Order: sequence, then C-alpha cells, then structure tokens
Amino acid sequence: MKPLLSILRAAHCRSTHHYFAIDALPLVQTDSGQRLSNLLLQHHDRYLTGAKDPDTRFRDFQNHVVHVNDGYWGGAPRVAHQWYDRLMKYLRTDRFRDAAHAAGVLSHYFTDPMMPLHTAQCEREKVLHRPIEWSVTKSYHSIYQNWVDDELRVVFQMSDHPGWLGEAILHGARFANRKYQFLIDHYRLDEGVKDPQAGFDHDTHAMLSELFGLAITGWARVLERASLDAESLRAKPLPTGSLTLPMLMSTIKVPTRLWLRRIESKVQKIKIEKLFGEYQRTGDVREHLPSDVDVVHRVVKVHRDELRWKAQRKRQLESTETKIAVTAADSDNPFADVDPFADVDVDASEAAQTTGTSVRYDERGNPVSIAMNRPSPQLGSLSRRDALVDAPSIGPKTAARFEAIGIHLVGEFLDASAEVVAKQLATYWITDETVALWQTQTTLMCEVPGLRARDVQMLAGAGCRNAADLAKCDISFLHQEVLRYSTTSAGRRYLRGAKAPSRAEIAKWIRSISNIAPVHEVRRSA
Ligand SMILES: [Zn+2]
Repeated sequence: MKPLLSILRAAHCRSTHHYFAIDALPLVQTDSGQRLSNLLLQHHDRYLTGAKDPDTRFRDFQNHVVHVNDGYWGGAPRVAHQWYDRLMKYLRTDRFRDAAHAAGVLSHYFTDPMMPLHTAQCEREKVLHRPIEWSVTKSYHSIYQNWVDDELRVVFQMSDHPGWLGEAILHGARFANRKYQFLIDHYRLDEGVKDPQAGFDHDTHAMLSELFGLAITGWARVLERASLDAESLRAKPLPTGSLTLPMLMSTIKVPTRLWLRRIESKVQKIKIEKLFGEYQRTGDVREHLPSDVDVVHRVVKVHRDELRWKAQRKRQLESTETKIAVTAADSDNPFADVDPFADVDVDASEAAQTTGTSVRYDERGNPVSIAMNRPSPQLGSLSRRDALVDAPSIGPKTAARFEAIGIHLVGEFLDASAEVVAKQLATYWITDETVALWQTQTTLMCEVPGLRARDVQMLAGAGCRNAADLAKCDISFLHQEVLRYSTTSAGRRYLRGAKAPSRAEIAKWIRSISNIAPVHEVRRSA
C-alpha cells in the first residue's frame, strides 16, 4: 500500500465504511478512474464524511438494506441511483468537494447490502446485529489482510443496462444473503462480547474476507464507470492532480504518535516512520518514497482476469450482464460454483435511463432552461388516448407496472405527478427523474409531428421539454446540445449505434411547428 494511503487510513479511518471507501482506490485501474480516485483523495475529508453520513446524519436505515427473500425489499438501489446522478452533476460542473461527498455517500449505499445482516431479518439476529458489526469493525484489518493474502479472485462485472448500479447491488445482496444463516449460526456471542475479534471462527472469518473483497472490488468498478460517465458528460477529462503529504498532514488533527500506533503492519510502520522523519526534517519526501507494490500488483492480475472474462462474455451476449463471483485465484472458471444469474427482477433494459438529467447546467453550474410549457395542439404521432405501451421508452413490462397502479393511457401518464408515480411503482431503477424524463419524451411525441422514439429521447436529453420549447430553440444551440447528449452513456444507450439527429433534421422539426411560436431565442435563467 502506498505510504500516503497508510497514513490516511491510520489518521482518518474509523469505521468499516471508511476503510471500504479508501481501500477500493488502489484497485481502480482505468486512467479516468485514477483521475477520479485522485480527486477523492484530495478531498478525502468530504469523501470520508460522506461514507458515514447515511448512518450518522441521514439515518434512513430502510435504504441501507436489501432483504433478498422479501422480494428484494429495501431502498438501497434507488437511493444509490439518486446519489450517482448527484455525483454526475457535481463532476460535470467542477464541484469536486461536493462530488467527493456524494461519492462517499454512494459508497455506503453500495456496500451496505453486501453485508449479510443487511440482507434479511430474524429474531436471533436482533440480538447479534450489534455485536457482529462491532466484531467486523474491530477485525477489519485481519479480514482485509486475509483477502489480500489468500489471493481470492473477485470478479465484479457491471452490466450495460440503464439500471446497472441497482442490479449490481441486488446481485451483491443475493451473494451476501447466502452467508446470512451461516454467520448467524457461527458467531460466538459469548467470546465476541468480551473480545470482538474472538467472535469469529476461522470459517466465518474466511467468509467475511470474500464479502470484503466483493464490496471493495465492486466499489472500485463503480468508480471506474462513474469516471467514464462523468468524462463523457463533461466532454473533457477530469482534472489531474494528486494528494501530497503536506495536503494530507494539514487535515490530521491528532498527534502523530496516535495515528502511527494504528498502522497494523510493523514493516509498514517502520517505513512510514522513516518517511515521516524525512518529511519533518526537509518538508518533502524523496528518499523514502517507495514504489507501490503489493496489493496493486495482485490486483492488476485480477483485473486482467476480469477483462479476459468480460471479452469472453461479450462474445456470448449482446450486452454485458451483471456478474459477481469470489473464488480461489487458481480455479479456472470463476462461475463454476455459483449460479450467477437467476431470479433478480431486472427488466431495467427497457428503462430509458437513470443517469441523464433533464436539467442542464452551463459552465458555471447554473441551470440552463429552455423554458415555456403551454401544451400545443395535438400534432404528433402519439395521442393522449393511446395505450401507454406506445409511448417512447416504455416497453410492455414497464407498461404492466403502470397498469398495476391504474395508469393505462398516455393522457393518464402525462397528468400524473412524477414523484407520486415513482413512489407507487417502488422499483429501484424508476426514479422520479426517470418518470419526468419519460413524460417529457411522451409530450414531445404527442406535440411534434414525425418524431421517432429515438428523436424525442435525444431532444428530451438536450433539455427540450415540448413543442413550444422546440419552436423557440436556436437550431445550432439545440444541435450542439443533442450532440453532447448523444455522447453520454444515457444518450449512447438510446441510440444503440444509430447516428444522432442531424442539424437538417432538427431544422425540419423546428420548421414543422414554427407556426406555433416562431421566435428563435434561448432563455437562460440563473
Ligand atoms: Zn449503513
């Protein structure tokens, strides 16, 4: 481990959530992911605060769980998507401190459901819950080290579906849930109360190592995906930079001897004492700056295995599915002893998307509105009396969900409150933002002649809400916004390889409704 990370861990990490958040960073492999990791390290105070906020400030505990055998009850996937959207917004608008906080919060909601006690409930567990969590916290180092030393191979592959993040959480919860009963049965309460670390026997300890590996690796993969999504939203890379020892030292408020004591490994402690001594003498570190080996070295190998696996899967499937597994590093097929897919209720592939946002922001982070919202006369290919299944982005499965809450027609859908609908649907990947976006797409299809589903998806993504908006739009501005949206992951998913609408097409649409409001301007509000 890099000495700076060791110091950071020793000085600032107080809980399992802090450790997960930090220990995932060296596992991030992609260039963009490393840029994001470095930002998180620079703002580690906010990142770590975020990682604990769901427990200490929000206290929304129903969102920390996924009860697998109760139909995957629990809000973790839904709030995770919300925090992911926030993370994207902040990264897009250069609000990096806020982004670090959002990433920390997201890490909490992402990793909590990968702990068995967050995946079910029973009477015995009520007694054991706190002692077990205390034992986990107190045993963090040995459990983590066991994962590192055992060369367990963790594969955590995210899908390409719009609800990929929620899917990953559900798969993780399902994996963790298989260990639930084992953990309850094997925890040694009497010993654990006296000495937290003694609560786990060898097998329980090994099982927790697997779950740690899963949570930490999974979070690293989320950071890689997030950095990629953020950079395509920004249309430029995240800034480069890294944490320095002086930066780190300025955030440490406890005496040196206190945090030094918390560094577990003796070898590492000696190295850090030397490094720190040099820093105190010279204000810099040159001589004692070692190259980062151990964990990273091993992780690169794991990453290559994953890439090989992913390539193999790609050949078999059109789109990537969520896959997770933990096995010994020398076994051939990481999925041989697990049933990797099954019954998770994931029809997210027909969801439009959840990472896009219908609010646009300019360079300074101010929302840009292309306002005006009086409904226009019905001109488009869709009518309020049509069945909802004909609306854009809503396939038969999603339409059936709407039927179940009494919404059958396009008109009923457009009149409903997005927030209320999202609550009633209670499906993690359909947030109120998603419903609002679908309503916008549907409105456009009702009001503007000749638009295909893909066209309204692009227009809505570009911030255009209805025919009146469209009529007022400057062609070049709108075209630019459409192009920008088409490069985001949400835009790419909608297009499925097709080309974004051309300037000429956009001009044609605007002309087709220009009798409604022939004014060419873009209004911006702060
Ligand atoms: Zn929690």
